[in-house]
Amino acid sequence: MTSEPMLQYVDVHCHLHDPRIIEDIPGIVQRAEAAGVTCMVTCATMEENFEATAVLARQYPAIVPCYGIHPWFLDSLSPDWQQTLGDRVAAEACGIGETGLDFMDKNADRDRQMEVFAGHLALARELERPINIHVRKAWDSFVQILKKTGPLKTPGLVHSFSGSAELVKVLERYHLYLSFSGSVTRPGAKKVVKALNAVSMDRILLETDSPDIYPSVPDPDPHGLNEPRNLPAIARIAAARAGVPVPALVRSAHANALAVFGPIIPADAAGQKQ
Ligand SMILES: [Zn+2]
Repeated sequence: MTSEPMLQYVDVHCHLHDPRIIEDIPGIVQRAEAAGVTCMVTCATMEENFEATAVLARQYPAIVPCYGIHPWFLDSLSPDWQQTLGDRVAAEACGIGETGLDFMDKNADRDRQMEVFAGHLALARELERPINIHVRKAWDSFVQILKKTGPLKTPGLVHSFSGSAELVKVLERYHLYLSFSGSVTRPGAKKVVKALNAVSMDRILLETDSPDIYPSVPDPDPHGLNEPRNLPAIARIAAARAGVPVPALVRSAHANALAVFGPIIPADAAGQKQ
């Protein structure tokens, strides 16, 4: 009996530097690899965790770093953050992010968020790096910025996509990929599932956002902290909700992840063409 080759995955957005899980990274990487997750794109969120992210990437070829300032943490910015970020990105095989816009909090300084995000976009364009973007309740402002900058020069993604199905086609025109997380597994995730069904197979990505967004799976971990090994479970549920065979979705997401992050993923972590 010949068994099917194991499907391979790239987790395009997680936070392995997070203090809640950093002590457990050897186990997390081992469990991810056993599940077929050969590569994890881990995003720093502020200058303070750039170095912890860099250390993980140096230790494990399967961990690929992105550096950026998350819109929640603009208070942490040093006066020369742009220089610090630019120097680091120029010196390493890495992407940019997590960066973006989040207007959930009504008191958020929207102008400042747009200015900092535009700085990240400019850097991605200048250094030709992929960009890992967070957008929540800020779609009009996001599209407004894209209209000004034009389509991305190097590909980028919107992580844990929460926008409408109508927006999918608009964002695809700007060379953006759309990434789906455990939020697509929630029983009531009608809007996300609609968006999932609207996205082109050559623009879809999958992520865990570990240690957050623990997926709704039949056998959840009692500790409740998400980790990249849960990506195949997210893919299975997403495929069912999109009405496509699991291998077709997984192979598309893998090829797309390589299209976005290929230039910065070490050959060992890229997996086989499948
Ligand atoms: Zn994140």
